[in-house]
Amino acid sequence: MSYFVYVIIFIFGLAIGSFMNALIYRLYNQKPIVGNVRSECPHCGHVLAWRDLIPILSFIMLIGRCRYCKKKISWQYPLVEITTAVLFVFAFSYLGFSSYSTNQLLKVLNYWVILFALLFIFVYDLKYFLVEDVVVIPVAILSLIVNIIIGGTIWKLLLAGAAAALFFLFQYLITKGRGIGLGDTRIGLFMGFALSWPNIIVAIFFAYSIGLVVSLFLLLTRKRKVGAQMPFGPFLTMGTFIALFWADSIIKWYFNICKLS
Ligand SMILES: [Zn+2]
Repeated sequence: MSYFVYVIIFIFGLAIGSFMNALIYRLYNQKPIVGNVRSECPHCGHVLAWRDLIPILSFIMLIGRCRYCKKKISWQYPLVEITTAVLFVFAFSYLGFSSYSTNQLLKVLNYWVILFALLFIFVYDLKYFLVEDVVVIPVAILSLIVNIIIGGTIWKLLLAGAAAALFFLFQYLITKGRGIGLGDTRIGLFMGFALSWPNIIVAIFFAYSIGLVVSLFLLLTRKRKVGAQMPFGPFLTMGTFIALFWADSIIKWYFNICKLS
């Protein structure tokens, strides 16, 4: 595969990342997402021109400040753009695309949609402590459908979605919503439909492990008090990300260890 394709995908990823930034801003501020909407500076409200909206380049040329009010542009903007682009290229090279087939194309698109949703959930929950169902539910249904089309086992997909959602719901009920939010049950559904069974277990295992390590670190460095609210979505998305690419090898490795001992 020529490098040219990767460059095109990278630029496409930057554009999608730029769209994600706009989506995050507009959903939270309850502004229209489609139709004749112009992007504006969150500080001064000045309508932005095309030259202010080029992914990465505008941020560099403006040295991270709004052209009109000179207030700082959040690092979120270039970071989300670059991360989306890198994830898209990574997924494409991971899945491989030596010759054209509809199945392979669907697989790549499915991975891109899942990665988009993961990054969106990560940023949105970290920033606002909220899970946006407008994104999570359609993406959950979409990945269920695509996974069935490309040959996934229906009962395994449904089992994974139901198991994860019920697992989080159970936790929500016993902690009375202090640990985990109801929104996380919808993320669980999405994770299950994206990963299927048994890969969902790998995702949940890593989500809790990373969550535990980060919580301990924040407590020990006194960045956060005991019992302070912490969004769980970012950990769920990290666990899902690991499982999406490495669950099969992790499961194989785990059972080999069991056989040896
Ligand atoms: Zn401004």
